[in-house]
Amino acid sequence: MTYRSARQCRVSAAAKECTIRLDPRSPSVLDTHELGRRPGSMRKVKRTVEAPDDLGTGVMGVPRGTDLELDVRLESVLEGVLVSGTVRGVAAGECVRCLDGVTFDVDADLQELFVYPGRAQQDDEDEDEIREIEDDLINLEPAIRDAVVPTLPFQPVCREDCPGLCSECGARLADDPTHRHDVADPRWAALASLNDTHDEKES
Ligand SMILES: [Zn+2]
Ligand SMILES: [Zn+2]
Repeated sequence: MTYRSARQCRVSAAAKECTIRLDPRSPSVLDTHELGRRPGSMRKVKRTVEAPDDLGTGVMGVPRGTDLELDVRLESVLEGVLVSGTVRGVAAGECVRCLDGVTFDVDADLQELFVYPGRAQQDDEDEDEIREIEDDLINLEPAIRDAVVPTLPFQPVCREDCPGLCSECGARLADDPTHRHDVADPRWAALASLNDTHDEKES
């Protein structure tokens, strides 16, 4: 394959990507058409959307397909549409100490500016962060992710004083608060193990 044809492939692949349109029927896609381009006009949107894939961290996340309550306001501003409001849902994960399931009520503030096509400042340093309105539609999914993920606990615990698991045998200490292992002096350990073998012979 010549350099030229390889390059053409890349170009056509990129062009194909660009033609993927937002699906107006997707719940996390909002239509801004009604707002017109009149700064100051406003619309409220309240709806339930399904949580997308991977809405979370390694230890905790909102399970895919569960309900997210979206309560936002769309405001027409000079450069585009400002979306602000809240997103609520329930995240699930594991207690980092005892591995029990834990849930966390997500109540995240969302604020995102979607700019009209071509309005993005070319010299803006974080150009990747700029979200554009496409065919009057905006896709809230990345904004939902940005809002929700930082609110999730880094180290979820089932309760503040969860004693966790026994480091010796993995027993749940909450079930057995008096649980302990006698730490034997290594000089006696050999003797103790002799006794153990003797005791356990029948079992
Ligand atoms: Zn726990
Ligand atoms: Zn133990």
